[in-house]
Amino acid sequence: MARSIERREFLGLLTAATAGAALGGCRSDDDPRRYTESDVAALASQRASELERSGKGRFGVHRYRGYRGLAELPWFELDADGTLRCVADDVPTAIDVHCHFGMSMLFAPEIDLQARTPRVRHLLDCDREDPGCDLDLDVYVNANFTPADLRDLWWGAVSQGLWGSAAAKTQTIPNLLAEMDASRVGQAVILPIAFGLPFGDDLSERWLAAIEAAGVSDRLIPGASVHPRDPERVAKLERFAAAGARVVKLHPTMQRFYPDDPDVMDVYAACERLGLVVFFHTGRAGIEPESTHRYALPRHYEEALANFPRLPFVLGHAGARDGHEALALARRHDNAWLGIHGQGVTQLDEMIRATGGERLVFGTDWPFYHLAASLAKVLIVTQGSERIRYDVLRGNAEHLTAKAHPPESQNAPLDRRATSAGFDDLSRRSLPAG
Ligand SMILES: [Zn+2]
Repeated sequence: MARSIERREFLGLLTAATAGAALGGCRSDDDPRRYTESDVAALASQRASELERSGKGRFGVHRYRGYRGLAELPWFELDADGTLRCVADDVPTAIDVHCHFGMSMLFAPEIDLQARTPRVRHLLDCDREDPGCDLDLDVYVNANFTPADLRDLWWGAVSQGLWGSAAAKTQTIPNLLAEMDASRVGQAVILPIAFGLPFGDDLSERWLAAIEAAGVSDRLIPGASVHPRDPERVAKLERFAAAGARVVKLHPTMQRFYPDDPDVMDVYAACERLGLVVFFHTGRAGIEPESTHRYALPRHYEEALANFPRLPFVLGHAGARDGHEALALARRHDNAWLGIHGQGVTQLDEMIRATGGERLVFGTDWPFYHLAASLAKVLIVTQGSERIRYDVLRGNAEHLTAKAHPPESQNAPLDRRATSAGFDDLSRRSLPAG
């Protein structure tokens, strides 16, 4: 009897961990217009057409064997240890606006974020075998997961929530910095997620502290996250901003909220007041539970963009498989920035043509993927266009945070001003040559 109750509680927590949120609950907002048959059809047709078009665009076929296979490209080499390195000195040192560390929640033992291990196990662990997995740069990146990989990914997520996974232990600060050095990435924004769990849900606090403890805040720019239905959300944002956070990650899919929910408006107002950039997961990745697809449709982001015209929003993954709609949003609202992580070369090229490269920002979603997988795509697409390459890899990210300074910053207390340096200020500190 006692065992079955424990088991029931255990399963309850497991559901919260995997289905994303004690604070989530059921919402009354189940208007059928939120998610329609034509939304379902659009995702199916996006999947079919990208497969059909892969390799047939103006860049031709870009398929590699593992991340190491990217050494075939002119900008990369394998060093004597077999480590992939970007060796082209004229590639601008990038700012990656979309990174995470290994996650542990609930019962999981804390990951030692200061540990160095011989190899990073990315969530798409493409270099596990030699030769590595089939890596196609002309599809949305998660199309490279096999069905078996996706099963591992799900079990990995569950095990991270409960006892920590072997892969997560390799997704640490020194390992990220080593990969940044090898990939000419100078700085990275680290984005935790608040899942709204009853306990063990303090990634923002832990990651801020870990970056501080490592003494690497010149290279790793801390982000933070709050759950939109956390009663403490505004107070937490104030604390995170004071502790040096620059960006707030909101994940409609995992946190199960509509970005135009009236409850979230005070989060945006606080971000604007505190000079924080909002980083949204945007669009359907296509590998999440279908019941969560409805939250991330780009049209549900319009109201936030329109109501807070001075607040910069990054639309992460540039809308993922809803890229066309996210691009249209970014063209309508000049406070919308497209985080390009995940888009294949043909899609990325379309986005650059539509925007001239303006407000596109580089991101990698590490540790899902090797940093070089995203870098390679930018280098392929921007060949012959140095200005756009610079802007996408670095210049736009510098402008992004310059926009986010709070209007009252002149009157802010000293400690606030000390922590409100933009990427621009940070970039004047010394960066590694390679
Ligand atoms: Zn991410």
